[in-house]
Amino acid sequence: MSVPDLAAVLWDMDGTLVDTEGLWSVTMAELAAHHGGELSAATREELTGSSLHRTVRAVRAEVGLDPGDADGVAADGRWLIDRTAEVFSRGVPWRPGAYEALTAVRESGLPTALVTSTYRELTDVALDTIGREFFDLTVCGDEVPATKPDPAPYRRAAELLGVDPRACVAVEDSPTGTRSAVAAGATVLVVPAEVPVPPGKRRVLRASLVGLAVADLRALLTGPTTDGSTDHRTRAAAH
Ligand SMILES: [Mg+2]
Repeated sequence: MSVPDLAAVLWDMDGTLVDTEGLWSVTMAELAAHHGGELSAATREELTGSSLHRTVRAVRAEVGLDPGDADGVAADGRWLIDRTAEVFSRGVPWRPGAYEALTAVRESGLPTALVTSTYRELTDVALDTIGREFFDLTVCGDEVPATKPDPAPYRRAAELLGVDPRACVAVEDSPTGTRSAVAAGATVLVVPAEVPVPPGKRRVLRASLVGLAVADLRALLTGPTTDGSTDHRTRAAAH
C-alpha cells in the first residue's frame, strides 16, 4: 500500500488564515439592515464559508425579498462586495498561528495555493494584508464553475499546480470548505473557527495553527483520521 508524499498545501482564506468571517458577518448584517431587516444568528452561521451568490440569496430570503430576482441579487452582490472591500482594505486580522504556519510551509519549498470562495477582487484586497508571496497561485470563487462545498475549487488548484489532489493537504475552518476538499480527494487539517466541524473521513481536527510544523502536515497523509479510518490510504492505493 503506497502512501503519497505530501505534494502541496492548499489554504482556505476566510476563517482559516484571516478572521474575515467576523467581518463578513458584519457586512452581511449590514446588507440585511440596508433592506430594513435583520439576520438571524442561525443564518449567519449557516452562511460561514459560503459563496457570495448563496449568501446574497439567503439574506434576501431572510428579509422578505425575492431570492430569485436576478437583478436584485446582482445589485445586492455588488453592494456586499463594495462594502466588504471597504472593510477589508483597513486590514484583515490574522488567525492565531496562521502567519507563522504560512511562513513555515513557504520556507519548506512545498507548492501552495490559496483556495477561497471569496471573489477575486475581494481576495486581492485581503492579499494586500496576507501577502501574495506565500502562494504559487490563488483560486477564487468567481473563477470556478461551482464553489465549496463542490470539489471544483480544490480540484482546480491541484490541477493548476500539477499535483494529485490525494497527495494534498487542505487547511480549512468550515464544514463547507472541509466537504469541498474531502470531495476533491485531499486530506484536510481542520481548524474550526466560528462553527464546529464534525469528525469524518480524511480530516484531522486541530485547535489552532499555533505551532504547526510542516512535519505535522506530512504526517496527516499517513496517520488515522478523526473517524479512526485509514480510508485515504486505501483510496490512494486503489488508483
Ligand atoms: Mg473558511
